[in-house]
Amino acid sequence: MADYDVVVVGAGNGGLTSALALAKQGVKTLLLERHNVPGGCATSFIRGRFEFEVALHQLSGIGTKDFPGPLRGTLDDLGVLDEIDLVQMENMYRIVQPGKMDITLKADKAKAIAALQDRFPAESGNIVKFFDLVYEYCTQWINVTMIKDKEASPTKYPIYFKYALKPMQLVMDEFFKDPLLQTAIGIYWSYLGIPPRSLPFGEFAIVLWAYAEFKPWHIKGGSQALSNALLNAYLKAGGEVRFNCGVQKINVANGKVTGVITEEGDEISASRIVSNAGTYTTYINLIDPDQVPNWRYKELGARSVGISAVSVFLGFDREPEELGIHETTNFLATSSDANLAYEYTKLLDAPKFMLFSCYDVDDAEFSPKGACQAALISLAYGEPWLKIPPTRYFNAKYKYAQQMLNILYQVFPQCEHHIEEIDVGTPLTHMRYLGHPGGAIYGYDQEAKDTELFLERKSPIQGLFHAGSWVGSGGFQPTLMSGASTARAVIRSLKG
Ligand SMILES: Cc1cc2nc3c(=O)[nH]c(=O)nc-3n(C[C@H](O)[C@H](O)[C@H](O)COP(=O)(O)OP(=O)(O)OC[C@H]3O[C@@H](n4cnc5c(N)ncnc54)[C@H](O)[C@@H]3O)c2cc1C
Repeated sequence: MADYDVVVVGAGNGGLTSALALAKQGVKTLLLERHNVPGGCATSFIRGRFEFEVALHQLSGIGTKDFPGPLRGTLDDLGVLDEIDLVQMENMYRIVQPGKMDITLKADKAKAIAALQDRFPAESGNIVKFFDLVYEYCTQWINVTMIKDKEASPTKYPIYFKYALKPMQLVMDEFFKDPLLQTAIGIYWSYLGIPPRSLPFGEFAIVLWAYAEFKPWHIKGGSQALSNALLNAYLKAGGEVRFNCGVQKINVANGKVTGVITEEGDEISASRIVSNAGTYTTYINLIDPDQVPNWRYKELGARSVGISAVSVFLGFDREPEELGIHETTNFLATSSDANLAYEYTKLLDAPKFMLFSCYDVDDAEFSPKGACQAALISLAYGEPWLKIPPTRYFNAKYKYAQQMLNILYQVFPQCEHHIEEIDVGTPLTHMRYLGHPGGAIYGYDQEAKDTELFLERKSPIQGLFHAGSWVGSGGFQPTLMSGASTARAVIRSLKG
């Protein structure tokens, strides 16, 4: 008899939710995590008197009690909704291009439209038409992909079929002339890590619609509080966990998984494995190559490892308003060409756009009284960082961070004089802590061919399942939900 029904490799969002959903159904489950805390990206760390949030800027899919989003239901089913405190953000974002534009969009369709019309009166009508398109697209998308209307066709859902895979840039050009307006309305492309010229419009539309309708949310205590709640619920349901316990091998015999070997050499048997370690790591590093069908390698080779980030974590000795920070989420752009800005994510030169999140604006208790913390994020691929010789790494890291701070100070000059703590993470940091190639934070690049429409989540190896960003979209909502849906697939296979 096997030691466990299921071993889950990795305690990121996808690993935690699948482990919890399995344990709640009475499945004998062991969760193995190479790091010493749960969460993967969804974590925090302490410097001085600050507990810095690593990843969560705007939680999507929560919605309100009266108008619940899909993630609210998932967290409720998992029994953790009442274990966390959620804080609703009033704004989607403020977007600033120094000297050219400074707009704040409320998390509300009508108010966001009004703010955009106020700044871009010449394109007033098309702003409304664009939002109407986004909303109509999402309605049709729900019918086709969620409700799975059996009679779905291009005649019945013309907007969905016309726009799902159309590059976002083409749609932007169809509606807007002013590149500044395109920047103001399209900046959420960065949450998907793919430039507008190749990002499927459907992916972008869902993000904009989801934040406007279900609102962006913050978790008190940060994403670590959610990771801890998931872990506690898992332990309460009878699940077992080992931290500091990386898996070095997934054993496969005759096309079926038989268990895992930990980095310390323990052999643990199980007939089902859920890997949250990413499909790249799983098939390339953890399974003997003669057990992996060749087509799987070919398929992995057709995808590109996705984007990572440089994060500057800042602890200030002032309250946000004393620093001129009035919005939680601020995008700072130095170019209104998003496709160019994306090209800079492959370089070590000063970035063309950044995200600056100050959590204390919506949650005054997030940092000690009289202080606040913020994360300054620049999307960045691992490639150029991997080429830096180790002896030059620290200089390169601090030079890059200084370039980011120089842009920040143009918009928030007071910040320069009130930094109490500062730390910098690069793609190499994410690589070290997550174990993903290039430190990728959203899995593979989400090109049109790699969207959920085409991704095959099922493994060619019997008993092997996947959860997390490498088998769907990156981000909190998709990965938390992917774990719960993977658990359902595992349970079906155990029954069947
Ligand atoms: C700086 C930053 C900002 C972000 N901002 C946002 C945001 O605002 N909104 C949003 O929705 N998303 C955001 N994200 C993305 C989001 O955090 C991730 O897409 C998501 O958390 C990934 O979850 P996952 O399930 O894929 O697991 P991961 O977080 O990738 O975790 C995988 C886990 O597996 C473990 N593991 C790997 N290999 C092994 C092994 N061999 N044995 C045992 N364990 C192993 C790792 O240690 C890790 O704990 C951000 C991420 C970062 C880093």
